[in-house]
Amino acid sequence: MSFLAKNYNRRNISFKKGKGSYLYSSKGKKYLDFVQGIAVNSLGHAHPELIKVINDQTKKLWHVSNSFIIPEGELLAKKLAKKTFADYIMFQNSGAEATEAAIKVARRYFYSIGKPKKNRILCVKNSFHGRTIAAIFASGSKKMTEGFGPKISGFDQFKFGDHYSLKKKIGKNTAAIMIEPIMGEGGIKVIPDWCLRELRKLCNKNNILLILDEVQCGISRSGDFFAFEKAKIKPDIVPIAKGIGGGFPIGAVLMNKKVAKSMIPGTHGSTFGGNPLAMAVGNKVMDIVSSKKFLNNVKKLSKYFLSNLNSLKNRYPNIIKEVRGRGLLIGLQLHNDQSTFIKKLTENKFLTIRAAENVVRLLPPLNVKKNEIDQALKILNKVCAEL
Ligand SMILES: *Cc1c(COP(=O)(O)O)cnc(C)c1O
Repeated sequence: MSFLAKNYNRRNISFKKGKGSYLYSSKGKKYLDFVQGIAVNSLGHAHPELIKVINDQTKKLWHVSNSFIIPEGELLAKKLAKKTFADYIMFQNSGAEATEAAIKVARRYFYSIGKPKKNRILCVKNSFHGRTIAAIFASGSKKMTEGFGPKISGFDQFKFGDHYSLKKKIGKNTAAIMIEPIMGEGGIKVIPDWCLRELRKLCNKNNILLILDEVQCGISRSGDFFAFEKAKIKPDIVPIAKGIGGGFPIGAVLMNKKVAKSMIPGTHGSTFGGNPLAMAVGNKVMDIVSSKKFLNNVKKLSKYFLSNLNSLKNRYPNIIKEVRGRGLLIGLQLHNDQSTFIKKLTENKFLTIRAAENVVRLLPPLNVKKNEIDQALKILNKVCAEL
């Protein structure tokens, strides 16, 4: 029997090792892994450079308190700032912590300029920003919040794609709008660039901060370092996590100078956040995935994968409704519930994961090989033919 709490619906497989795009089960079977810890292992399993950097760091220093200077963190923050819109970075350990910290920064900013009542955060109804108390009430999803009352106030929601509802929900006390440029758990829904640009304008007009949750779509997953870059806008606050650690838990909030000024000593902290071990790994992931060459390769692989998935859709229009996504954040929306489809893929040694709206998520490592994409396409084709 298992002594683990039953808060997950676990598939009946376990693994003993991984290598690149593959996982090896305890029973000795080899699986093509397009889950990668849900877009976490940006460089696949057991990447030699990550193994080296973590081994080297374990011999030097694992953890010191944030009451001291941590050079590895200083370095990663500098790289993130040089590469992006951000002026300052605050390290955390997970996505939910990063989105929570983003909310804190937004509120603290308005507090610091003498507008403490401007503290409401506006989100997409049924979006996903993590599982902490604040994050579940931010999304306003009945499924996630049920039984976890009292309801946390200070959050409003608008309907995805409904611009009228968005404008209606903006009030004088709206401090920030928080959205994912590409909704991951929500079913790989890409917010169009023009929409992001309009959102930026709307925020400027109403003196509202723009928080873009790039926990899933960020760190080169979309083919750009950040998914919002394509829209040529600058957000104020960006929480990140998943891909930046390549499998080691790291989260962070990136912010501009304007809002960062309010985060004075004592306003936020994290015991583990930004420790030397995590930062050593983060630096290496960052160096690899942020290079132009690496990003161009993600774009190339994405184009190949997406065009072949669209051909698959055209072959099986009664099974696949839509191919969605950007970069290597891809979803196959099926006409029917995706559980059987995912089960059949698993039987064929191909691991994928669900998202909302009958979507099967395909999340290969960002350094996936073309022949591994071909293998995925072959299995997808086989399963479609058999359904
Ligand atoms: C996964 C995710 C989170 C939460 O991250 P955790 O590390 O599970 O807390 C937040 N926002 C988005 C967009 C995510 O995909």
